[in-house]
Amino acid sequence: MPLHECPGPDRKKPIVPEELQCPACGAEIEMWTNEAQTTCPSCSKVITRDELDAGK
Ligand SMILES: [Zn+2]
Repeated sequence: MPLHECPGPDRKKPIVPEELQCPACGAEIEMWTNEAQTTCPSCSKVITRDELDAGK
């Protein structure tokens, strides 16, 4: 494991909200591009990016 993580290209990415759909209840949710997970405001399910990618 490297001790120093290079911020690299991540610093150039704009942080914007993405509109997504909750895989559990279908509600519209927003996940910021710098977040790895978010919580559905409708059903309180924690939704991770891995989970969204797996559903594709
Ligand atoms: Zn939900």
